[in-house]
Amino acid sequence: MNTTITEITSRKILTEAKGYLDVGFTHSLNPYSGCGFSCKYCYVREMPIQKYKEIPWGNWIDIKTNAVENYQKEIKLLRKRNKSINIFMSSATDPYQPIERRVNITRGILEEMIENPPDFLQIQTRSPLVTRDIDLLGKLKEKCEVLVSITIETDREDIKQIFAPLAPGIQLRLKALREVNKAGIPTQASISPVLPFTPDFPKIFNGIVNHIWIDTLSIGDGLMGKRSEQLGMPTLFEEHNLSKWYQKDLHVKVEKYFRKYFSNTMIRVSKYNAFPR
Ligand code: SF4
Repeated sequence: MNTTITEITSRKILTEAKGYLDVGFTHSLNPYSGCGFSCKYCYVREMPIQKYKEIPWGNWIDIKTNAVENYQKEIKLLRKRNKSINIFMSSATDPYQPIERRVNITRGILEEMIENPPDFLQIQTRSPLVTRDIDLLGKLKEKCEVLVSITIETDREDIKQIFAPLAPGIQLRLKALREVNKAGIPTQASISPVLPFTPDFPKIFNGIVNHIWIDTLSIGDGLMGKRSEQLGMPTLFEEHNLSKWYQKDLHVKVEKYFRKYFSNTMIRVSKYNAFPR
């Protein structure tokens, strides 16, 4: 099925943070609706934006063509309130999905942020395309706090192929993390959601991340595992003989394991931390 791409103008680009983001972030920013990576576990599949859509998740993308103008207007208004503005980009799409290479919406927003910075920006992506914008991120870092968080759910390519076959390969994401970190921009590896991994998984992050974020299908879907269940995740794990990895307390075990390799301050777990960064 071909992807349906639509150019839209949205009413707003900054959405007040709710749910799992209401822990220090003030706003989420989604340059697109829809996502070409189409991960099977993606909780957005169970949200109204997809539930009431006739086109399957992964087969449609709305490009928010007025994102930059909206950002400029909204941040200027918010600044008048004299409160900090902490932005999570993005919560319901990937800001560096393939179409970004052509239409540059995310890049445009970063350019505007250099003029009108928030207090904190966390970029959340699975795409090595983020390295294209290292020049802008370096400039933005001089104006506000920036964290580039790249999702790496597992170190096993065979597992990635089961759960997120259209997302970029693990080695490419690791290379991107390394490049961003080398450029002096703070980085985070987001193990979100935790998928089955090899015992050597923690070692691949050595020296290339400032933080490690741990999140599972049971605690990180916004409804304490309900959305993951509705998406059939327990069955998918079972079909591949991976059920021992689908446990409510998986985050506790993974955290314990990662603490053997990294300091307490580096590791953050979705459920307990006040600020996912
Ligand atoms: S990259 Fe993120 S938004 Fe896109 S399908 Fe995967 S989990 Fe969903």
